[in-house]
Amino acid sequence: MSTDLKSVAEEANERLAGATPQEVLAWARETFGDELVVTASMADGALPHLAAEAAPGVDVLFLDTGYHFAETIGTRDAVASMLPINLINGTPLQTVAEQDAEYGEKLYERRPDQCCALRKVEPLNRHLSHYKAWVTGIRREEAPTRANTPVVEYDEKRDMVKLNPIAPWTQDDLDAYITDNGVLVNLLQYDGYPSIGCEPCTQRVAPGEDPRSGRWSGTGKVECGLHT
Ligand code: SF4
Repeated sequence: MSTDLKSVAEEANERLAGATPQEVLAWARETFGDELVVTASMADGALPHLAAEAAPGVDVLFLDTGYHFAETIGTRDAVASMLPINLINGTPLQTVAEQDAEYGEKLYERRPDQCCALRKVEPLNRHLSHYKAWVTGIRREEAPTRANTPVVEYDEKRDMVKLNPIAPWTQDDLDAYITDNGVLVNLLQYDGYPSIGCEPCTQRVAPGEDPRSGRWSGTGKVECGLHT
C-alpha cells in the first residue's frame, strides 16, 4: 500500500501544482471517497467551507485538547451547525485532570513537547488511522518551517496521502475567501490572536508582528508536532 499511495501522491502533486483548492479537494474526494478526512483548528471556517463544497458530508476532525479558548469551541460548534460536514471531536486518552494526576499540573509549562504529544499528536494519529488521506490548512507563508509545503505529499510516517490545498494562499487570499463567502472567523482573530492554539500556549501579538510569534512564546518551540 505504501508504494501505491506514495506514487498516487507524487503524481497528483505534479498534476495539481497549479490547481485551485476546490480542484484539489474535488480530486481527493473522487480518489479517496469516505477515506478522506479534513483537519481543522477552527481559527476560521475556511477549510471546512471549502471541503463542504467539494465533498459534502466529509469528516472534519477537530483536536479537542481540553485547553482551547471558549471562542475556539464556539467556532467549532457554529461551523459544524452551518456546514454539511461530519464533525469529529478528537480527544486525548486522558482528561486534563487525569494528565495532571499522572504528570503533575501545567505540563505545558514544564514539558510542552510531551503535552503536545499526549494531547495533539497521539489523538491525531489514532483518528487518522481510519483514513487513507488527510487535509490540512497549512499555508507556506505561515512559517519558515512551512515554506516548502507541497499541495499533495506522501505522509510516510502514517502511510497516507496528505493534502495541503491552501498551501499557496497568502493571508490576503485567505481573507478574500472568507469575505467573499461569509465564512465564520474565530473572534480571537479580532482581538490580537492571528494564530490560535491552546489557551495556555497562545499569546496576543502586536500588529505587524509575526503571526505565529504568540505560539509557545519564549520557549523556542514553534510547532506542536502534528506536521513534523
Ligand atoms: Fe499542551 Fe500547549 Fe501543546 Fe496544547 S499547545 S497540547 S496546552 S503544550
